[in-house]
Amino acid sequence: MATLTAMKKKLLFALAALSVLALMALLRHYQIDIDTLREWIAQAEAWRAERILAFALGFFAAYIVVTALSLPLAFGMTLAAGALFGFWGGLVLASFASTIGATLAFLAARYFLRDWVRARLGDRARSVETGLARDGAFYLFTLRLIPVVPFFAVNLLMGVTPIRTLNFYLVSQAGMLAGTAVYVNAGTQLARLDSLSGIASPTLLVSFALLGLFPWIARMILNAIKRRKVYARWTQPAKFDRNLIVIGGGAAGLVSSYIAAATRAKVTLVEAHRMGGDCLNYGCVPSKALIKSAKVAHQMRHADHYGLEPGVPKFSFARVMERIHGVIAEIAPHDSVERYTSLGVEVLQGHARLIDPWTVEIAQEGSETRRLTTRAIIIATGAEPFVPPLPGLEDVGYLTSNTLWDALRDRRSPPKRLVVLGGGPIGSELAQSFARLGSQVTQIEMAPRIMIREDEEVSALVQASLTRDGVQVLTGHKALACGVTDSAKWIEVEHDAQKSRIEFDDLIAAVGRAPRLQGFGLEELGIPVNRVVETNEYLETLYPNILAAGDVAGPYQFTHTAGHQAWFAAVNALFGGIKRFKVDYRVIPWATFTDPEVARVGLSEAEAREKGIPFEVTRYSMDDLDRAIADGTTEGFVKVLTVPGRDRILGVTLVGAHAGDLIAEFVLAMKHGLGLGKILGTIHIYPTLAEANKYAAGEWRRAHVNPRLLALVERFHRWRRG
Ligand SMILES: Cc1cc2nc3c(=O)[nH]c(=O)nc-3n(C[C@H](O)[C@H](O)[C@H](O)COP(=O)(O)OP(=O)(O)OC[C@H]3O[C@@H](n4cnc5c(N)ncnc54)[C@H](O)[C@@H]3O)c2cc1C
Repeated sequence: MATLTAMKKKLLFALAALSVLALMALLRHYQIDIDTLREWIAQAEAWRAERILAFALGFFAAYIVVTALSLPLAFGMTLAAGALFGFWGGLVLASFASTIGATLAFLAARYFLRDWVRARLGDRARSVETGLARDGAFYLFTLRLIPVVPFFAVNLLMGVTPIRTLNFYLVSQAGMLAGTAVYVNAGTQLARLDSLSGIASPTLLVSFALLGLFPWIARMILNAIKRRKVYARWTQPAKFDRNLIVIGGGAAGLVSSYIAAATRAKVTLVEAHRMGGDCLNYGCVPSKALIKSAKVAHQMRHADHYGLEPGVPKFSFARVMERIHGVIAEIAPHDSVERYTSLGVEVLQGHARLIDPWTVEIAQEGSETRRLTTRAIIIATGAEPFVPPLPGLEDVGYLTSNTLWDALRDRRSPPKRLVVLGGGPIGSELAQSFARLGSQVTQIEMAPRIMIREDEEVSALVQASLTRDGVQVLTGHKALACGVTDSAKWIEVEHDAQKSRIEFDDLIAAVGRAPRLQGFGLEELGIPVNRVVETNEYLETLYPNILAAGDVAGPYQFTHTAGHQAWFAAVNALFGGIKRFKVDYRVIPWATFTDPEVARVGLSEAEAREKGIPFEVTRYSMDDLDRAIADGTTEGFVKVLTVPGRDRILGVTLVGAHAGDLIAEFVLAMKHGLGLGKILGTIHIYPTLAEANKYAAGEWRRAHVNPRLLALVERFHRWRRG
């Protein structure tokens, strides 16, 4: 049914386009010069004298048709309107008729072209549409003021944007008024003119272009007034101690301060606890070190898969934890005070607090509290584990990703019975690792499936893998309370209105991470927060000289996105007065390091459906890949979403060994607009896991071979055989 409507639409569009083109071709034979126009007007004056009202209505309708069909007659008709109806009469007629005609052309473009354009733009359509929804009327007004931009082009262009029809109508009428008035007026003087070219003189067009600048200048002035208002209650220092102060020494803070130092700015980085932030000390680094030990233990248990004698791994858990801390210590110099000092950053260890938009107070242990003034500030305070308000949780005690690495450091064996609260990436990685190291793990998730951001088949595959490793995965289970009975700790859960209790020795709360928003002056400065610090597309907060990046700013919570935002925050903080850059979220990859790993970039199937973006799916299964077979890692797949009929990539989900590494090729392709054809045409080393990407591209190609062409080639071969 839908395809039938699409077909009808295409047919209708082709008919309409052909008719307009035919009309245009016809009109090309008529050279409308001033004499022809005068002749037509003289003839029309006779009709006008007979029945003025009918004539005016007919003229009005004809004008609407001309503008709706984008026929190149509007200029002549506007002059005629002046000549036939005088300035005011002509202006009213031409202004309303041209706007109604423009709106009809706009509606036609919306009907015929909008879906098509959206499908072509794919996920990019969303960011373009958000920008246009906000500023579309403003751009339209500017375009209407400058008559050098063809009238019909503006109508068609705006038709494919999300601007509302009424807004389009009103802004067009207002924006075209000046231009219409000039031409109608010229029409009233037609008898005295020598030629038509004089009307649209270069001087006039330049004047209009200058008029088009007017709304931009007005906007700049308004912005400046708004800025002044925000800062009105504060007194700006006459001089600043620093160009930039960065609060927080995690990924976002480190990258921001590094960029500032690299551009020779005077920059101070303040870190309250450990340099490197959560990623180094409690997050990515220790969790990946734990995953590696757990994987080795798993492989020892299943050594028979590789023709070796399997065995139960013997180990002291304390040694595993020691290795994890060793890994942190080995990486720590990359993020250390010494390294950043050598790069030109002043690093202060202490708690920072905003005093006013240009002053930061730093409370350093063992020394006096200092106050520094600065032109700009970047808030990079990160996030911390969210602890659910479960009755009894505080009493039974719990671990989080921030505490577990130190709390379990000296244990000789892993937790015997472990509850992991949360089925997101962090909960799933930890649940699998502890299970592989011998813990009896129960993972509790309230949602109907784990890893809810990914497609259902991905959740199912990861859940099956966790279950095989011994994790009891309880989805659709709501945690109600915790307690201790006869010195046994328990957690009560509800599933299908049934309550049950699970006993445990340790519990890890991994239900999400909440940005650090309190205790450093956001409230006092009135900087709005809505779960994250509110920022605009330049990462500026309410005060344009205070910016935010990383987990505290959202919308993502990854080290690489924190670093990515940091570049924009630093450049905008230091050079925003000259040029600001909008943070670019078009191609954001991420991975969950379960076994198999799950990596994604762009749209998932569920997201594409939710957003109504048309797509095709191409799959390639890892069990077909030579290297995966040799390695015994055949679980997983490459799933690529593309624009229907084209090889442009909308999104990729990769499940399998090293998926987090393999996705990089697709990230590059999406970032630089390379289609699957380019991946297929690239040599990949045999035998590698990376070949999966090329084979996925090959699957796409096979599905898009033109059968007629193939039949033709077959005939060619037959003919060659004689
Ligand atoms: C278990 C776990 C595993 C993870 N795995 C991955 C992964 O594999 N890949 C990935 O990309 N991401 C991963 N993450 C997420 C990653 O750790 C975060 O996205 C990243 O650390 C965010 O960096 P950030 O700079 O925004 O904040 P943070 O790293 O949290 O740094 C913020 C810093 O600000 C300091 N601070 C706060 N307030 C003040 C103040 N007032 N004054 C001075 N200093 C202050 C804090 O002490 C902290 O050091 C993981 C997280 C966890 C918990």
